[in-house]
Amino acid sequence: MKKPLIVITGASSGFGAEMAKLFNADNYPLLLLGRRVDKIKALPLNFDNVLVKSVDVTDLESFQAAVLEAEERFGKVDLLVNNAGVMLLGNVWKQDPSEWQTMLDTNVMGVLNGMKTVINSMMDRKGGTIINISSIAGRKTFGNHAVYAASKFGVHALSETVREEVSGHNVRVMVMAPGAAETELLTHITDQDAVDTYENWKTSMGGTTLDPIYVAKTVKYMYELPQEVSIREVLIAATSQDA
Ligand code: NDP
Repeated sequence: MKKPLIVITGASSGFGAEMAKLFNADNYPLLLLGRRVDKIKALPLNFDNVLVKSVDVTDLESFQAAVLEAEERFGKVDLLVNNAGVMLLGNVWKQDPSEWQTMLDTNVMGVLNGMKTVINSMMDRKGGTIINISSIAGRKTFGNHAVYAASKFGVHALSETVREEVSGHNVRVMVMAPGAAETELLTHITDQDAVDTYENWKTSMGGTTLDPIYVAKTVKYMYELPQEVSIREVLIAATSQDA
């Protein structure tokens, strides 16, 4: 049977790339979004039913245009994974406000833009799933994480609010909140003290972090449960993670 369209934001690295590989191996049509399309195109995928578009999630219009193009080719979006995000650690008294803006724009506005793009159609069709990638830093605070935590607490809050609102339309809104994992996330941090603190924390826990494949597998499991079942929220981390 023909599988429905899945959209993954931030597919060029980390969790997004793992999810793209897992769903692609199971023959789901995919719309993969990110700014670095060359990196997405270099993933080991079967590109027969994959559309790759350069979309900055903060740009609602280009998000909508990409989804429209994918839907014309593959049918309506059945799953949107709002995964794109940035973590620019630092102390608010030292950090450049442009870094706060980038995090809030990407992690909160980007998620809202994604939801806005697909949710009306899902409500009309009485079906569909949105999985927003938050973080354990969306449930508890960590030093150097003030604005990142604000953005991810925001993801939890907006997701649960919308979940309540659209539950009667048979649309699922779920949150996946991982702990520390090896991705490109730390590479954008400009405050070297914050990077060192984070790396030392990981070392103090034995240096084993969560393998991104388990985030991808759990997201796929959440999605493939029957539409009548909604795992509202998952917190997943390496067993050795102490916080
Ligand atoms: P990566 O840095 O490896 O991946 C982030 C992805 O987001 C990239 O594909 C990047 O693509 C994309 N992205 C960033 N900004 C934008 C934008 N403005 N528009 C479109 N795409 C964008 O990190 P992760 O895989 O770790 O991050 C994925 C999600 O997981 C994030 O939401 C992050 O907060 C969350 N998370 C990560 C944890 C970790 O320890 N790694 C723990 C908990 C949560 P490109 O640059 O090509 O646009």
